[in-house]
Amino acid sequence: MAKTIQAIRGMNDCLPTDSPLWQKVEGTVKQVIGAYGYSEVRMPIVEQTHLFSRAIGEVTDVVEKEMYTFEDRNGDSLTLRPEGTAGCVRAGIENGLLYNQEQRLWYMGPMFRHERPQKGRYRQFHQVGVEVFGLNGPDVDAELIMMTARLWRELGIAEHVRLELNSIGSLEARANYRDALVTYLEQYEDVLDDDCKRRMYTNPLRVLDSKNPDVQAILGDAPKLSSFLDEESVQHFSGLCELLDSAGIEYQVNERLVRGLDYYNRTVFEWITESLGAQGTVCGGGRYDGLVEQLGGKATPAVGFAMGLERLVLLLDTLGLTDVRRNVDVYLVTAGEGTMMAGMKLAEHLRETSPSLRIMTHFGGGNFKKQFKRADKVGAAVALVLGENEVAENTVVVKDLKGGEQKTVAQTDIVAQLIELV
Ligand code: ATP
Ligand code: MG
Repeated sequence: MAKTIQAIRGMNDCLPTDSPLWQKVEGTVKQVIGAYGYSEVRMPIVEQTHLFSRAIGEVTDVVEKEMYTFEDRNGDSLTLRPEGTAGCVRAGIENGLLYNQEQRLWYMGPMFRHERPQKGRYRQFHQVGVEVFGLNGPDVDAELIMMTARLWRELGIAEHVRLELNSIGSLEARANYRDALVTYLEQYEDVLDDDCKRRMYTNPLRVLDSKNPDVQAILGDAPKLSSFLDEESVQHFSGLCELLDSAGIEYQVNERLVRGLDYYNRTVFEWITESLGAQGTVCGGGRYDGLVEQLGGKATPAVGFAMGLERLVLLLDTLGLTDVRRNVDVYLVTAGEGTMMAGMKLAEHLRETSPSLRIMTHFGGGNFKKQFKRADKVGAAVALVLGENEVAENTVVVKDLKGGEQKTVAQTDIVAQLIELV
């Protein structure tokens, strides 16, 4: 036998046993986002490398060490998208969607980061992203957070996620803070690890979310970003907090929450669960009012978030919230001359009149026992049985696969019977 070929590490198959839960999550996400009137956009999975280095920032984890970058046959440097915001902004500018306009957009799809694979962290993973352009008030920030809160309620996980919130202010306020932070950190060069030392001059705010306990210890007395915030950002943030309070959404202000990508300003937030260990952030987002201009468009306020679908699916799984719609409602069993053709016709008729029914036809023959066994295996609730007598009399046997009862009914009455049992 030839050697089998395996998938790439950190890139997973979604198998028939997994897909119903995925469909539930994706379906709920679409329904909730749709309830706010947002429109779907679909962008390519591959973009020019410098889109990401310019948008996300040269000295972020993603650009420094996580991108799948390659040369195509023309020698151009391309990258598998590590996130969706950059491509969404690129598409918006390129297609004239952002110029003096308001857009409320969402997308769903695979993202790629070369990270160490572990539970909740993969190299191909899936995000749903929502991005709003052209609106600068805290009301939009609040709506996005309310949208995510609604999604958690719909998925039944609201009790298992909490919201952390911060404001990182304007670019100028950050620049002032950055100077103060660097001056402070310089006294502790001997405590900082290599990563932090490097970051201290390239991206010092990232030192704030260092996981190193020694670094966290010295940060206790570091200057606080909140005391450097510009007045407008302070107003924006208190406006947001007020809206969340009146919507009954609980949050914790985490002054050290800065998020990993360079493009954020003002509002940043994360939804975190304690149920998934270290990979506990299920959703993160914030404002990025400077990005559109930075990528060549006209200055346009923007705010968005992205959530990781693998982590949501894992969370539902961990909490046992795996009740999903079955793939097959009705299993069609036939035996005898001419019954297959009559059965397939009957099934087509049912699909016509009741499009939401899921009807699977048994193929490959075999006795009733074998066919009922298959029906059980695929999880059908009902079997429809057609033998030669039934075909001759235009009837069908409806068998309740859970209760076991069966009755013969006229083919014309079948829909009513099925509705009761499915
Ligand atoms: P983390 O701190 O866990 O690395 P991040 O800040 O890099 O997350 P974002 O870039 O904000 O993540 O992406 C938004 C969401 O996408 C995350 O909150 C998470 O749910 C999900 N996500 C990010 N990277 C991965 C990955 N490698 N595998 C699975 N999900 C991921
Ligand atoms: Mg990351």
